[in-house]
Amino acid sequence: MSIYLDHNATTPVDPRVAEAMLVPLREAFGNPSSLHRFGQKARGMIEEARAEVARLVGATAAEIVFTGSGTEADNLALRGFSGAARGARRIIVYAAIEHHAIVNTAKALAEEGTSVVSVRCRPDGVIDLEDLRAKLDEETALVAVMLANNETGVLQPIGEVARIARAQGASVHCDAVQAVGKVPVDVKDLDVDTLALSAHKFGGPKGVGALFVRQGTRLRALLRGGSQERNRRAGTENVAGIVGLGKAAEIVRTEAGGEAERLAPLRDALEQALLKNPGTRPNGAGPRVANTTNVSFDGIEAESLVLALDLEGVAVSTGAACAAGAIEPSHVLRAMGLPVSRVQGSVRFSLGRGNTAAEIDAASGLVASILERQRRLAPSRS
Ligand code: PLP
Repeated sequence: MSIYLDHNATTPVDPRVAEAMLVPLREAFGNPSSLHRFGQKARGMIEEARAEVARLVGATAAEIVFTGSGTEADNLALRGFSGAARGARRIIVYAAIEHHAIVNTAKALAEEGTSVVSVRCRPDGVIDLEDLRAKLDEETALVAVMLANNETGVLQPIGEVARIARAQGASVHCDAVQAVGKVPVDVKDLDVDTLALSAHKFGGPKGVGALFVRQGTRLRALLRGGSQERNRRAGTENVAGIVGLGKAAEIVRTEAGGEAERLAPLRDALEQALLKNPGTRPNGAGPRVANTTNVSFDGIEAESLVLALDLEGVAVSTGAACAAGAIEPSHVLRAMGLPVSRVQGSVRFSLGRGNTAAEIDAASGLVASILERQRRLAPSRS
């Protein structure tokens, strides 16, 4: 058996994307900055991909900067705004539930002397807008809030965040890495200045992402060198990766709506089946992306459940990050107010394209039998 329920970690590359990437690899080796036909062929492919990505998020092509990952796009936004900040308006505000790409960049900026402020989260997994309001003032340069959380799938009220930020004259960055391909994303509707996305989260290859940068936005470049990406990201472009991102964007734009409708009942069925196990609770409520459920199993170590499921061929994930050999409890679930013991028993199931109702049945059946076995073997923990 092989059931992949970890699509928020990464998605399989769509075969149409892989096919599209072979074209530049085989037929367009030229440097996109070269004036000759070899270079111009590669350049043309990059610009087609740029137009596709722009179309996907409602931007213009000139507003799309290709990066080496979603992480780089987030770094470029935070460091870009911070580096371009003028006068007293220098403070960076971010949600406590942001991905490490934001949280750790903010922490690094703080170590370098920039003032950064984190905003609390409610128990349902949504940013606390009152806390946001209280923490903004005329010195706020940027507010960074994600669209969909990677661990819980909970959608954040970016429109409202942007209104609150604008009222204080601050700019807005949105990490939409987990939202693109799952919900419609339109930079104008969201009213954001920058927005990060990553190809491998929606059927594209790893190691390529993009940052939408609203026209006229002042941003300091992260990488210096050549004048690629309108001086916003130096370095010879990853042509095949960018072409793959463009193809994935096209597929998502035309097919994602139907896929979300297909996944929502599968996810709900999985969640309901999981919650039938004693001592099981859902993490995160309210509007969520259609593919994600995060649940806590009382008295169970999430890692041991993940490993036991892996032995049976089912891939899921804990909310914990393994840093230097030590398991760190998820900062997202902690920010939602969950006690460490509950966080340690939390598992994320994230569905995607290939998953079927039969797989969901099989996976939830396996979870039930593993839980029963683990609790039987360690009765003192339950
Ligand atoms: N932001 C969010 C919300 C994510 O879930 C991830 C990846 O897990 C990233 C950023 C980083 O993206 P990448 O893996 O392309 O660096």
